[in-house]
Amino acid sequence: MKTWVADSRRFSYLNWKQVEALPKQETLLILPTAAIEQHGHHLPLATDTLINNLLLGKALAKLPAEAPVYALEPICYGKSNEHLGFPGTLSVSASTFMQVVRDIGVSVAQAGFRKLAIYNTHGGNSSLVDVLARDLRADFGLRTFALYGSGGARYDGVSAQERTYGLHAGEIETAFLLSAAPELVDASAYTVNYIADVEKPETLLPENAAATFAWLTRDIAPGGVMGDPRPATAEKGARWAEQAAERIAEALEAMLRWKDPA
Ligand SMILES: [Zn+2]
Repeated sequence: MKTWVADSRRFSYLNWKQVEALPKQETLLILPTAAIEQHGHHLPLATDTLINNLLLGKALAKLPAEAPVYALEPICYGKSNEHLGFPGTLSVSASTFMQVVRDIGVSVAQAGFRKLAIYNTHGGNSSLVDVLARDLRADFGLRTFALYGSGGARYDGVSAQERTYGLHAGEIETAFLLSAAPELVDASAYTVNYIADVEKPETLLPENAAATFAWLTRDIAPGGVMGDPRPATAEKGARWAEQAAERIAEALEAMLRWKDPA
């Protein structure tokens, strides 16, 4: 899998004596979580994992070289049952996903580390990551953090419609891949599909509402796309990746500075 995470930031490239020597109280480990799932006719299955590697790699590059931060290898398989029925989607159940992350958390705690951040870039995992961060805190005393997607960056120049309903394989995800791995984008195969209209508010919506209906992609997006990839450009992708990396780096620095009350 392509990654933009520097070798010097990869936990799995250390040997155990180097791990033993790390300052355990301060070191921040990051566990990336993503997905291998359909992303329409034009983006690869690994889109969420590649975007995770890209944004995290760029954020880590902004930290001082001596900051004790390491990225664990990503958990590429996520809870993607909303995309089942499309060839190539590889999903694990909620309980499997949670057990794997929990087991990694146990290993991290047993090695003496204190700080673990879960960085998630697949929406289907988000509610599980929320639960896991709290459970790892409660059950193993880890200081856990959860970090999502853009880190709060508000990508400039995105329409209100795309910002709200460009949920999957739309302009933003396509732009990231055009900037970072254009050979994996089939720009001749774009499809466009919006699952709701910001101008026509309904009581029951698929996302971003007090009352929602649980959706499966095949119910609402037969081609697998939720959004409009057509306005995506490599230039936008590079700019938005930079905006996200700045916010993610700020979050990582805050996690590094964090001290639990004695
Ligand atoms: Zn995606």
